[in-house]
Amino acid sequence: MSQKETMQFETEIQQLLDLIIHSLYSHKEIFLRELISNASDALDKLKFESQTNQDLLGDDTELKIRIEVDREARTLSVIDNGIGMTREELIENLGTIAKSGTKAFVEALKEKKESALELIGQFGVGFYSSFMVAEKVELVTRAAGTDQAWRWESAGDGSYSIEKSDETRRGTRVTLHLREPGEGDQDYTQEWVIRNIVRKYSDFVIYPIVMEIEREEVPTDDEGKPIEGAKPVKKVTEETLNSMKPIWNKRKSEVSEEEYKEFYKHLSHDWNDPLETIHINAEGILEYNALMYIPAQAPFDLFMPENKSGMQLYVRNVFIMDNCEELLPAYLRFIKGVVDSADISLNVSREMLQHDRVVGKIRKNLVKKVFDTLSGMLGNDREKYLKFWENFGQVLKEGLHTDFENREAIADLLLCASTKGEELTTLKEYIDRMPLEQKEIYYITGEDRETLAASPHLEALKEKGYEVLLFTDPVDEWVLQGLFEYQGKKLKSVAKGEVDILPEEEKKEQEEKLKKLEDEFSGLLNFIKKTLDGKVAEVKLSQRLTASPVCLVADENALSASMERILKAANQPVPPSQRILEVNPDHELLKQMRELHRRQGESDELKEFAELLYDQAVLTEGSKVASPEQFCARLTRLMLQAAAARAGENPEN
Ligand code: ADP
Repeated sequence: MSQKETMQFETEIQQLLDLIIHSLYSHKEIFLRELISNASDALDKLKFESQTNQDLLGDDTELKIRIEVDREARTLSVIDNGIGMTREELIENLGTIAKSGTKAFVEALKEKKESALELIGQFGVGFYSSFMVAEKVELVTRAAGTDQAWRWESAGDGSYSIEKSDETRRGTRVTLHLREPGEGDQDYTQEWVIRNIVRKYSDFVIYPIVMEIEREEVPTDDEGKPIEGAKPVKKVTEETLNSMKPIWNKRKSEVSEEEYKEFYKHLSHDWNDPLETIHINAEGILEYNALMYIPAQAPFDLFMPENKSGMQLYVRNVFIMDNCEELLPAYLRFIKGVVDSADISLNVSREMLQHDRVVGKIRKNLVKKVFDTLSGMLGNDREKYLKFWENFGQVLKEGLHTDFENREAIADLLLCASTKGEELTTLKEYIDRMPLEQKEIYYITGEDRETLAASPHLEALKEKGYEVLLFTDPVDEWVLQGLFEYQGKKLKSVAKGEVDILPEEEKKEQEEKLKKLEDEFSGLLNFIKKTLDGKVAEVKLSQRLTASPVCLVADENALSASMERILKAANQPVPPSQRILEVNPDHELLKQMRELHRRQGESDELKEFAELLYDQAVLTEGSKVASPEQFCARLTRLMLQAAAARAGENPEN
């Protein structure tokens, strides 16, 4: 017979359990919602799998969730005949941090101990929430298509055990050995308590949630009339506790705010209320119902590869599939929701969905509806929109690059930092503020706002009173390659190519001036280029600098400095790019260097200056100098010279 094996929880799981057990979370009752959600998911999965493998169902075809209570033993069980788990799955799902999110969560907990409860709320702990009310949790499960069941047990004290079980039914039974209710706690063995909780949190679950209800009934005669004088007898009947009416198929007016919220929590496993709810009852040529939610907070795994679409597909109330990527583009993957249409085949497969015309049309409508909702929020409730943007802006932006058709609509929703002030701005607001003569939308990309705002590349623009957008998300560089223009105005990186800000009449003048200066500076420029051979492609006079002596710019089509850093950080090959060193001919330093060059020619001292000039440009763009030692050595030599000269000036000091 089977051996009982005891195993240790991964440290993080135990930390999580300790927190759950010892936290004074006030809504302990939600443990039942979590267990029912898991059961409902397991039934969904079975249903999906059985579409291609009928044998999985066997003769146990009536999918349901059963709640059983043993008042004497103080146990409460949630039983489903869903997909079940194999031994490996059990260990992975309930003993290790298989979900990368859990790890991220526990790490977040460690950093911010005091707000642990808030974080639990933000993350949701699903199955583990059982330990809020149970001193021991037992789980017996048999995976569909296998013939061995397993029993898992834990008191949440660091270890759990696994052994074989001779259970023959498919699915999972979770049994909680309930603690004695403390003061103010509900007694979860009471029928009415359970009934209320199910109604409150799980009414819309599409599978029946049944429970045996014991009633005393007076016996009746053949005609159904109570027999007079007969003693009441106990009768047990199975009752369905939930209405099973999918709320997405109800009219908007029939659904309360509370119901929307509870359904969201069921769907998303998030413990927080959603930021926004979008309910569509589409009628006419295309008939479908959809209920979509924008969460209030980004999940920890938003940028991890396993983060999939949050959409479920139903056909006439029947669950078809989870993570339905065809319903919304990947850049809207943060949206959780359900679509139910009568115009899609019940036997539709993932592959078929890609080419399904109805699905294509629904997707188009959903996307539009999401944009409309977001743009309404942006216009009417900026604070709420900022919250949305903070959490999901980075993901939404991906669409600028990937969804050509909707580029303009996504650009309308873009928020970015700017040299204008602290607040984020939309592109439209930027354009509204543009001085008449300004032709293009200027931007710069990099790691942080401060460095960017102080970047020498902005000097001439600032002097003109032109605003520059500061893009600091890692995705921005990539995203902006997809957005060449907005409302007829070109987006122009101020760190690339030429920046053309002068009006026509001044341009000629400037060109003449530049030509003259180029003649004067050509000797020095050639010398610097020779000295920096291999580091820069060109050295030329700048039109964008007013205060700083130098800056580096990229060729119009080349990678920018920030993109290079991103690629390097990701261990990606970075094509050797040589940038252009622009020097400011009006700067006193350059004037002096020119003089020095005229007098000394190619001296070692001037070579040092050229190197230092280059390193300065590298530093101001936020990159690292190639050799900090050499940089410091050169700087020290210079300081020493200056200090010695000064000391010589005032010998008594
Ligand atoms: P979540 O449900 O948020 O994924 P849980 O901690 O509640 O997290 O559950 C972890 C995993 O355990 C689930 O993702 C699922 O794979 C598995 N699981 C939990 N309950 C059941 C069940 N009743 N039937 C089958 N698998 C289950």
